[in-house]
Amino acid sequence: MIAVLKPSATPEQIEKLISWLEGRGLKVHLSKGDFYTILGLIGDTKQIDPELIEGLEMVDSVKRISEPYKSANRKFHPHDSVIEAGGLRIGGKNFQIIAGPCSVESKDQILTIAKSVQASGASILRGGAFKPRTSPYDFQGMRSDGIELLLETRRLTGMPIVTEIMNTNHISLFEDVDIIQVGARNMQNFELLKELGMTKKPVLLKRGLANTLLELLMSAEYIMAGGNPNVILCERGIRTFEANTRSTLDLSAVPMLKEMSHLPVVVDPSHASGMARLVKPMALAAVAAGAHGLMIEVHNDPPNALCDGAQSLTPEQFAELADKVRKVREAVAQ
Ligand code: PEP
Ligand code: MN
Repeated sequence: MIAVLKPSATPEQIEKLISWLEGRGLKVHLSKGDFYTILGLIGDTKQIDPELIEGLEMVDSVKRISEPYKSANRKFHPHDSVIEAGGLRIGGKNFQIIAGPCSVESKDQILTIAKSVQASGASILRGGAFKPRTSPYDFQGMRSDGIELLLETRRLTGMPIVTEIMNTNHISLFEDVDIIQVGARNMQNFELLKELGMTKKPVLLKRGLANTLLELLMSAEYIMAGGNPNVILCERGIRTFEANTRSTLDLSAVPMLKEMSHLPVVVDPSHASGMARLVKPMALAAVAAGAHGLMIEVHNDPPNALCDGAQSLTPEQFAELADKVRKVREAVAQ
């Protein structure tokens, strides 16, 4: 971290600041120019709040040199992380398609969809049991019964399952789930992230609606700092001024996150666009951008889905998408 001091900073003020910083275990390198004095702070600067220093009258600006995320940082882990979940691998050269309905609605619904998406190339089944709905009057999910149906569907199809957790109190219900999803609305639910950090469960961490990539990585850091390295990042669109799509899919997040971090990056074009007809082009673009996987909402009867019907593909549309994904993967691998 570097602190640039104003020309008006007095030697007494500088000395006081240096001894305060040294008191926090940092080494301070002082460099005096004609106008500005620069302090180079060496050591564990994580515990220093740059805004606290920047707020001092004598300080012109403060800049972090090293990123505040360590475990998720590509610099300290140059190779891609490969996460194992339900006997599958995701990350590095391993690509997986997660598909399924927004919500588990019945035994017949989840099993029918699972079989169809599996037949066309999906390797992991999704399905919400606890649903984060904007309106309390909307379908809230089948809750623990939904998890039971997912587990039963896994027994019948062999597909690993991913489903969303919203509350630390529910963690025991997720014991047999292969991948626990933290949805966009809970990306900064730090208590939930800490609890998940104490497990070894793979966590699919979705980017918040109004969160930066750095904030996403800091949330991954919460899970990893607790001892759980199994984090999969998911770009699912962010809220911008654009109103024609549900969210704006930030595809530059894919190569950027891969530069910043070694964690796998999955893209969810369904929640990003909110419209079934946009899912295929954006999924293909995500694959071309280097995503390690896709998450696609599929429903056997989209007009009557209890949640997110408008963005759900039919099994036939999904089969077509999966086929095109294979072709794009081949093309970009060359
Ligand atoms: C979901 O995947 O079901 C979901 C609610 O997604 P998001 O958190 O990205 O909105
Ligand atoms: Mn949904």
